[in-house]
Amino acid sequence: MSRWVLLVALLHASSAAAERRVTVEVPPAPVDSLASISHVIVLDRCAGGCTVTKASPNNARMMQSSIPQGAGPFQLEEFRNAMGQTGAAADADWAKLVTCVREVYSQFDVVVTETRPAEGTYHLALVAGTPGQVGLGSDILGIAPLAGDCSAQDNAISFTFANAHNGGDRTNNLCWTVAQESAHAFGLDHQFMFTDGASTCMDPTTYQAQCGGQRFFRDKTASCGEFAARDCKCGKVQNSHKKLLSVFGPGQTVIAPPTATITFPQPGGAFPAVVAAQAGSQRGVFRADLLLNGSPWASSPGQTFTLTGQANPSTYMINMPGNVPDGITDIVVRACDDLGECTDSAPVTVTKGAPCQSAETCAPHQTCEAGRCSWAPPVGELGESCEYAQFCKSNQCVETTDGKFCSEGCTPEETPGTCPEDLVCAESRPGQGLCVPAGGGGCCSVTTSGEPWAAAVLACLVALRLGRRRTSFAGVRTLSAERDESC
Ligand SMILES: [Zn+2]
Repeated sequence: MSRWVLLVALLHASSAAAERRVTVEVPPAPVDSLASISHVIVLDRCAGGCTVTKASPNNARMMQSSIPQGAGPFQLEEFRNAMGQTGAAADADWAKLVTCVREVYSQFDVVVTETRPAEGTYHLALVAGTPGQVGLGSDILGIAPLAGDCSAQDNAISFTFANAHNGGDRTNNLCWTVAQESAHAFGLDHQFMFTDGASTCMDPTTYQAQCGGQRFFRDKTASCGEFAARDCKCGKVQNSHKKLLSVFGPGQTVIAPPTATITFPQPGGAFPAVVAAQAGSQRGVFRADLLLNGSPWASSPGQTFTLTGQANPSTYMINMPGNVPDGITDIVVRACDDLGECTDSAPVTVTKGAPCQSAETCAPHQTCEAGRCSWAPPVGELGESCEYAQFCKSNQCVETTDGKFCSEGCTPEETPGTCPEDLVCAESRPGQGLCVPAGGGGCCSVTTSGEPWAAAVLACLVALRLGRRRTSFAGVRTLSAERDESC
C-alpha cells in the first residue's frame, strides 16, 4: 500500500483572508527514519538568505524539501522584524520568538535551539521569507509535511513565512505558526473544538482566531478541522499535548504553576456568600476550586481567553454553597491549569455560626475537630469504591449498577484511552465519558463536591467500550503501535 504525505498549508492571519490548503503527493519517508525522532528543533532565521532545493525525501541537513513548487533552487529571504528590518536590528524580535517557541515546547523533552547539531538529524523550522519565494500563493503563512499515518517525521523542514506575518501581536502570531507547522511534522492535525465545546483558539494547532495570546499545546481532547469539525486524520479526536508527549516524552517546563490569592472575605470577616480571588498563569487557568477545611466544595471554570489571551491574573467569584455546616472554616482557592498543575491560595479563616462541637452538625462522613467540620484527606484512587466525592482524589464518586467508584472524566473516542488499566471510558453525555471499572454496568449518578449531600443525576447515555487498553504516553511510540491505533 502506498503511503501519502499530505502537505497542509496554514493561513491564520488576524484578518479574514481567503484560506488555502495544499495537498502534494510525495513518496513515504524511509521506515528507518521513523524509528527514532530527533529531539532537536532548530529555528533558523536564514541570516543572509537560505537556499532550499526541491527533493524527496525531506532532508533538513541538506536543505531539501518536497514542499516548494517549481524546479528551484529557491532563495528564502532573511527574517525581518515588524519594522521590516533585518540583521542586528531584528535581533530583539527574533529573540522574543525563540523564547516563545521554547516555552511552548518546554513541556516536552525537546531542545529548541538556533544552532544546528554537528551530528545527527533534527527538525528544521525555517522562519523567514515569503511564500512566493518557494512558489506558493501569498495567502499561505506556513506549510509543513504531515504524514498520512500521523507518524512523526524525522529530519523534516517546516516553513514559517515570517516576512508575510504583518501587524497585530506579531511574536505570538509567528510563534503560533512555528508551533503548528513543526507539530504537523510530528504528526499533529488541526484541532477545531474541544470535546467540552470550548474553542481550541488557545492551542497552536488551531485555525480559530477568536482568542489569541501565547498558544500552548493543551491537555484537552478535541475534534479536528479547519473551519468545521471533522474526524482527525488518525483517530476520531486528538489531544495535542498527549500526542507530543507520545513523540518526545516529558520535559522540564519553564512555565510557572498558577498563582491564586483570595481578595474576599478578609480573615475573621463575616461568612461570605461569594468568595473572590485573583488567579492566573502564563498558560491560563482552566479551573478555580473553592476548598473549605481542605476539601473542594465548588468550582469555577477558567476565565475566557480573549484576543490577548486570558488575563493574568483574572478575577474569580465563586458562590458559597448553601449547605456548608456551621463551624470555623478555612477558605482556600485552588487554581489549576490545563495540565493539572495547581496552586492553593493562602487560607482565609472565617466562622459560620458557631464552631462545631461534634460531627452531628457536620456533613455526612465529616468529623469535628477544633471547631472545624472536615473530611479526611482524599485517598480513593480511580476505580476504588467510594461513598462520597471528597473521598476520591479525583473528587468524583460515580454510581454504577455495580456500586460507586472513584472516577474522572475521559473521552470515549480517544485512542489510546486515558483511563487507567482495568477501567473503561463509559459515555456519560455525547462526546464525554467517565472512567469506570470494566464490566461495571451502567453509570448514572455522580456525586461531586458541589453536591455533597445529594447525588447529582447526570443524563447517562451509557455505552461501555470494553477491551480498550491504555498505552503509556512516555517515550517514543513505535511505528507499529502508531499504525495499530490510528489509520
Ligand atoms: Zn496547519
